[in-house]
Amino acid sequence: PEPLLEVKHLKKYYELKKGWFSPKQQVKAVDDVSFTVYRGETYGLVGESGCGKSTTGRAILRLQEANAGEIWFAGENVARLPYERMRRLRRRMQMVFQDPYASLNPKKTILQILTEPLRVHGLYSPDERVKKASEILKIVGLSDYHLHSYPHEFSGGQRQRIGIAKAVILQPDLIVADEPVSALDVSIQSQVINLLLQLQREFHLTYIFISHDLGVVRHITDRVGVMYLGKLVEQAQTEKLFQEPKHPYTQALLSAVPITHPDDTRERIILSGDVPSPLDPPQGCTFHPRCPACMEVCRTEKPPVVDLGEHIVACHLYV
Ligand code: SF4
Ligand code: MG
Repeated sequence: PEPLLEVKHLKKYYELKKGWFSPKQQVKAVDDVSFTVYRGETYGLVGESGCGKSTTGRAILRLQEANAGEIWFAGENVARLPYERMRRLRRRMQMVFQDPYASLNPKKTILQILTEPLRVHGLYSPDERVKKASEILKIVGLSDYHLHSYPHEFSGGQRQRIGIAKAVILQPDLIVADEPVSALDVSIQSQVINLLLQLQREFHLTYIFISHDLGVVRHITDRVGVMYLGKLVEQAQTEKLFQEPKHPYTQALLSAVPITHPDDTRERIILSGDVPSPLDPPQGCTFHPRCPACMEVCRTEKPPVVDLGEHIVACHLYV
């Protein structure tokens, strides 16, 4: 398979002040993350809230600037591209947000919302743009009768369909979808997931699918990366990861998913403690205070990244 996106040593650090007189502290929201996404696949990024998965997704599209690292897309290091070149490349990299309402201008009609990206990128004539908008609206399952309506006239699920239409109308290569169904009713979630899968086939899309919902991730992704406190701690093909998680954090995370299979005799692993503050992450392996398998070395030394054969894990247990 051909790589579409290569993220190398991505870092996003923030400076934070806790109080007026306290010194600045550094938050390592994304801390040296590397992964490759292949054309046509769905790559899942999972982990608890605050683990850095959204920041990673936003940094790839440069909606947030990374401090360091490389983002290779279509032969260019996107992280270094000047604004104008990035703007043109943006056509090929789109985002679908958790809350479509926040990304749809309430004062604009659906027609204006959908034709705007085409206009900005100088694509098609005005008449053709209207035609494209009406086509894409039908493709995402809404009638073009709705072209003159406003976002508030739609349900949450319909709004997400419009958010998806707005991303797909430019025929991008890559879509970063950040919790695209988390805000929707469960009954609507599967419809929107099926729409994403249908569009992927139809338009040869590649997805980065960011989610804390492991059931959805297992259903929709081809490979998964697991993040913990800004680091990628494990990565494998989805079924391999779900059947044989290697990292103790992944094992605990997956053990919390409700059991749906009768042969499944996993025991639930209860982690002690909360996710530590990223302002003051633990020494050594940042997971060590909660890890049931913690060894002496874990308290002081950062775990190396071990490749077990298309299965990557950052843990001292596999050295
Ligand atoms: Fe647990 Fe040590 Fe592995 Fe960290 S490196 S996950 S503390 S066993
Ligand atoms: Mg998030």
